[in-house]
Amino acid sequence: MIKISSKLPGVGTTIFTEINRYVQQYHPINLAQGFPGFAPDPSLINELGQVKDKTAHQYASLGGNTTLCEAIAEKTEKLYGQSYHPESEITITAGATQAIFTILSAFVQKDDQVIVFKPAYDCYEPAIELQGGKPVLIEMKAPNYQIDWEEVQQKITSKTRMIIINTPHNPTGTVLTKNDLLQLQKITEGTNILILSDEVYEHIIFDHRIHQSVARFPKLAERSFITCSFGKTFHITGWKVGYCMAPKALMAEYRKVHQFNVFCVHHPSQKALGRYLQNPDHYLQLPSFFQEKRDFFLEAIQGSKFEFSPTQGTYFQTLSYRQLSDEKDTDYVIRLIKEKGLACIPVSAFTKNHQDDKMLRFCFAKERDTLKKAAEIINSL
Ligand code: PMP
Ligand code: GLN
Repeated sequence: MIKISSKLPGVGTTIFTEINRYVQQYHPINLAQGFPGFAPDPSLINELGQVKDKTAHQYASLGGNTTLCEAIAEKTEKLYGQSYHPESEITITAGATQAIFTILSAFVQKDDQVIVFKPAYDCYEPAIELQGGKPVLIEMKAPNYQIDWEEVQQKITSKTRMIIINTPHNPTGTVLTKNDLLQLQKITEGTNILILSDEVYEHIIFDHRIHQSVARFPKLAERSFITCSFGKTFHITGWKVGYCMAPKALMAEYRKVHQFNVFCVHHPSQKALGRYLQNPDHYLQLPSFFQEKRDFFLEAIQGSKFEFSPTQGTYFQTLSYRQLSDEKDTDYVIRLIKEKGLACIPVSAFTKNHQDDKMLRFCFAKERDTLKKAAEIINSL
């Protein structure tokens, strides 16, 4: 037997893979893993089908397809007022996951500390640990999940290398306000701390809230990487195409790793996205598109025993089952799948020490009929 000395001894398979196993076995209504239950825009698929020129089927350049990078630069400047050079400050990535992993690989050294707000999406901490870095966890407490900036200030040390923020936030659906970003700016000013701002849900934000990208704040933008995902924005999670943006010197350092990590990503998708992104309607209509779904879902579960406040952003709604059971959330989810035919994600998968706040996460990026069936089950509990 070969002896394996694991670099991630505490890590198993992700909660999404775990729950998907039950989904395959029991075929519940699936509001668990975050992906749209409907097809992407046919015109985007059509763009992909139109990619016929010879070069598009060979390697793209290191930063990515020029048309796509230019379209991203234009969109970012228009929306957030910050200019990123398409050649030297934007890199197309294999989804936001690869961007996040590569950023952490490029900048986190042994014993560096990285501040992570919990609950947190699951790909940050393992990537920090693989570099020999130390995640410093700061809790955002249920049910409001606000950041305590005084605590952040107290947790900063000479070893703090990076702070990771995520707005709109997976799994809680909260969004950071302008004041949050100003606090972050104040805390980091004059330091060498980098910011990784995970903004994959930038276009899924509700009730006329404004997405507070770090790009809106020049003093934050100068120390930040922004990660985005076409999977989330254009309902194509399976394409695994995203991008990151950062000032030139940071991006040059990032690319030292990226070039050996993937070098470049699926070129035909980049070509298709480059053309599709020219039309701003494709992303500007997303808040109302998803708000309609959120409102439909929440209206349909109005009479249930679950407690909630409407999610502010992302296509996730958290519901508290406090009134219904004392069971651990992981047990409750498995029972819900097996006995009631409904799948969701236990929020303890993302909390510090897997603390169980009796919260479940439901993905409402689904057809009305699916949401209606899910609501019937939720109301019956
Ligand atoms: N960050 C967050 C907060 C996410 O929810 C996800 C999942 N989409 C990712 C990053 C990874 O995005 P991608 O699928 O583009 O790798
Ligand atoms: N981002 C998706 C979610 O939060 C999952 C992606 C994955 O399975 N890694 O549901």
